[in-house]
Amino acid sequence: MIKELVDKLQREKILSVDEFKKILETEDVKSIGYLHEKSRDTSHSIYGRDIYIRGLIEFTNYCKNNCLYCGIRHNNNNIERYRLTKEEILNCTDIGYSLGFRTFVLQGGEDPYFSTDKIVDIVSSIKSSHPDCAITLSIGEKSYESYKAFFDAGADRYLLRHETANKNHYSKIHPKSMSLKKRQQCLWDLKEIGYQVGCGFMVGSPYQTLDNIVEDLLFIKELNPHMIGIGPFIPHKDTPFKNHSPGTIDLTLKLLSIIRLMLPNVLLPSTTALATIDPCGRERGILVGANVVMPNLSPESVREKYTLYNNKACSKEESAEYKFNLEHSIKYIGYNLTVNRGDYKII
Ligand code: SAM
Repeated sequence: MIKELVDKLQREKILSVDEFKKILETEDVKSIGYLHEKSRDTSHSIYGRDIYIRGLIEFTNYCKNNCLYCGIRHNNNNIERYRLTKEEILNCTDIGYSLGFRTFVLQGGEDPYFSTDKIVDIVSSIKSSHPDCAITLSIGEKSYESYKAFFDAGADRYLLRHETANKNHYSKIHPKSMSLKKRQQCLWDLKEIGYQVGCGFMVGSPYQTLDNIVEDLLFIKELNPHMIGIGPFIPHKDTPFKNHSPGTIDLTLKLLSIIRLMLPNVLLPSTTALATIDPCGRERGILVGANVVMPNLSPESVREKYTLYNNKACSKEESAEYKFNLEHSIKYIGYNLTVNRGDYKII
């Protein structure tokens, strides 16, 4: 029965609410194995055994928001805040470029210090030093005009997880000042401007139900993004959700496979959160259909300060050493890290 649903998902790229729920609920090992196998085949048919690599630069942990799950939330006073200077950011991209990175992801809290002009200046400086690189921004909700200014300065992609597509659930994990409507509007704006857009959500976030997850899948189908970031929720000790359980690796892997079958061409990272809840999480994500990894290129001195959740998989090695080890572990499971921009493929 589940196998038939997996075949139907592969064929029709969509299921009904009840059908999605049946796959999400199943604990039958063979059926889950079949789902993963079909997803892996789909990923191979589009991206082969190439794994795209993005250099992640976490350039500020200041944030004006108070998302209840997040360790860098404004009200967390138990955190040492930092901002990288423009020179430090450019130094990270120069080091990354020499290591073979051709995509950089600039991620940070919603930090008003980084005005539209400052981000425009940083993006255009990176682009003028490395015109063959793609730049992804992940800096939260901004106005249409700011998104357009970043795009005109050379930003190619934007990651903004929608977090949950259910209004009620959204209000349980965010402060009143934030709204799902605004979040989703930002994603539509980014698409209209011409970015390669990424949405996504945490698996197992507090109060999330399977019905909510199905709503996420339907929203993702409607948005039809180029990238989808999903990873397990992991509690942080200085947040209101410190006593909630983390999301599971099994459900996260299941969702990676469902998403790959639903949107075959999508760029799907095997996330740091997955590597945090399971020592082989990154590799397991790839083996069920993920095709992107995002190692950290931030200076070692700040890596541990960007703590969204506890026990973050965070290497103390130099970027070069880390990339070498990553290359090795990915080769070990039969894949290759590629040196290119790693754009969305339209087939
Ligand atoms: N400020 C930007 C934004 O809002 O998109 C980017 C930074 S934000 C911290 C990046 C993502 O981290 C969020 O979209 C959220 O899904 C994830 N995240 C935050 N807290 C987390 C937690 N406790 N466990 C797992 N993921 C978390």
